[in-house]
Amino acid sequence: MEEIIAAIRNIPDFPKPGIQFKDITPLLADGRLFHRTIDLLAARHADQGIDIVVGIEARGFIFSSALAYALGAGTCLVRKPGKLPHAVHQQTYDLEYGTDAVEIHTDAFKPGQKILILDDVLATGGTVAATVELIRSNFEVEIVEIDFLMELEFLHGREKLAGLPMHALIQY
Ligand code: AMP
Repeated sequence: MEEIIAAIRNIPDFPKPGIQFKDITPLLADGRLFHRTIDLLAARHADQGIDIVVGIEARGFIFSSALAYALGAGTCLVRKPGKLPHAVHQQTYDLEYGTDAVEIHTDAFKPGQKILILDDVLATGGTVAATVELIRSNFEVEIVEIDFLMELEFLHGREKLAGLPMHALIQY
């Protein structure tokens, strides 16, 4: 785990002053550590019968597709508006200034499927909370867990997921 943490690069003031950006590209470039990261996530969910791993645009996709492959599950994309080609459901959420939205295909899941949601970083929790709302208000599925590579604890994003099982490999 220490090696994984060491492979995540901190970029001060990106993309805006005051943000400490957690850059995963050195981790992704190291085959052994990328493999180990996915193995750690997969070990949590072996034998749970996960049907679909949901990835959140865009860095979430990298981990969700690899985790889905490791679990023998499918994967599904939650994207910013206007990117998905088929009919979509949409959920808006508040930003510091203005709003944003996430979308998912209307046929993303079958009733009763067991799903995992995965993203690289839990920051304020706005994106993942909107993703949960998007899924819960449109589909009858079981959200088994919401996983992150990293949790920025000082932003208290976890509070937006009250009551839902969540797990982060690394805390800052
Ligand atoms: P939030 O909605 O505030 O939880 O932000 C979540 C999204 O923004 C995630 O998909 C992350 O990829 C990205 N993000 C937020 N803060 C950071 C950070 N400090 N470093 C890297 N990515 C971040």
